[in-house]
Amino acid sequence: MRKFTIIGGGQSGLQLGIGLLKAGHKVRVVQNRTAEDIATGKVLSSQCMFGASIQHERDLGIDFWTDSCPPVEGINFSVPNPEAPGEKVIDWTGRLDRNAYSVDQRVKIPRWLAEFTKLGGELVIADAGIDELEDYAAEDDLVIVASGKGEIGRMFERDAGKSPYDKPQRALALTYVTGMTPRPEHSAVCFNLIPGVGEYFVFPALTTTGPCEIMVLEGVPGGPMDCWGDVTSPEQHLERSKWILDTFLPWEAERCHDLELTDDNGILAGRFPPTVRKPVATLPSGRQVLGLGDTVCLNDPITGQGSNNAAKAAAVYLKRILEREDQAFDAAWMQGTFDAYWNYAKWVVQWTNMMLAPPPDFVLEIMGTACVEPRLAHRMANAFDDPRDFFPWFADPAEAAAYLQDLRAA
Ligand SMILES: Cc1cc2nc3c(=O)[nH]c(=O)nc-3n(C[C@H](O)[C@H](O)[C@H](O)COP(=O)(O)OP(=O)(O)OC[C@H]3O[C@@H](n4cnc5c(N)ncnc54)[C@H](O)[C@@H]3O)c2cc1C
Repeated sequence: MRKFTIIGGGQSGLQLGIGLLKAGHKVRVVQNRTAEDIATGKVLSSQCMFGASIQHERDLGIDFWTDSCPPVEGINFSVPNPEAPGEKVIDWTGRLDRNAYSVDQRVKIPRWLAEFTKLGGELVIADAGIDELEDYAAEDDLVIVASGKGEIGRMFERDAGKSPYDKPQRALALTYVTGMTPRPEHSAVCFNLIPGVGEYFVFPALTTTGPCEIMVLEGVPGGPMDCWGDVTSPEQHLERSKWILDTFLPWEAERCHDLELTDDNGILAGRFPPTVRKPVATLPSGRQVLGLGDTVCLNDPITGQGSNNAAKAAAVYLKRILEREDQAFDAAWMQGTFDAYWNYAKWVVQWTNMMLAPPPDFVLEIMGTACVEPRLAHRMANAFDDPRDFFPWFADPAEAAAYLQDLRAA
């Protein structure tokens, strides 16, 4: 039995903590908000998770919601026609092989905190700083920092080589609603790209009050969707969300005549720069700690990958820890553990950062071809579950041309 402390009880920290407990280890999670604070607080994410990530939860017996959470069954991608308002220039749908699910973290995290304690984990409610990290690192075999966007994560140095942006690339907003007209045929993430303005995506989810839809609004900074600064009430936030749809996406506005907020905390507005950090930080004592999840690999939500990455990172770290048996968790092992995850995550980061830039012509051609080529639509939809499948053809004009030619010929 080895001793671990994890700073941060979110998607990655609790999933890893529960995995370690189930493998017979001693685990302390330090979390700065109680289950009650989280359950009654503001939403923080839209947390849509695809098949492989849900499977990691299932493997640990902590996927408690597949029967109660409305499934996301596909991906729809649309681009409005700038010359003909109300018309689309691109519109394709691909069915997911495995359903995706979004369980509000206000529902999931309190349940996982209870499970963690039930399994014998030690839960410390405190805001951990450097002094506490020193104490934990002196006592335990390994300290992992999974504090998401929390300040403490700044102790990990930004990796400029892996972080092309140093400023926020989108003004973000979330609006949790009921009363939206369902999409015909089957449910989906309906992803709308408004060139030069931003993106809007929406999908079914489970929140504290039951099933809902989550609207995610991503505005190019300084543009018309960067419009949250003067919003002072939940009602105004809902109105502003509807205004964006009325203005740019009439087919989405059509679904929204009877919208109501799920609750006054079902809203969020903010922005942050996507940032990858070096995974090992050295404390003043010389002891080292390892970063996990958003702490060291923070993506813009445009591709809906953060919780998926957090789940996949936690699974990689769990495997590496268990394989280590009784050897020391030294800095080389820590770096190797992050690298094992980065072998996967680098593709997610590259794809996500590409989606933040204006689409090059060859990507527009791929998107256009998917409207008439269901195999391509199906592949792109399912690549949300494993974005490595976008490469190399989504990132390289020659590879894209060759792939499209193969598709047309087959
Ligand atoms: C607008 C928006 C939409 C999103 N949509 C999606 C989506 O559709 N799909 C998807 O996969 N991802 C999405 N994400 C990203 C996803 O929510 C995160 O990537 C994921 O929650 C990261 O998990 P984590 O464990 O790294 O951190 P978190 O889940 O943020 O957990 C960190 C925890 O640490 C605690 N903490 C922080 N500092 C300290 C401290 N000093 N001491 C103790 N505790 C501390 C925090 O309170 C928190 O509970 C979205 C994010 C945003 C902002």
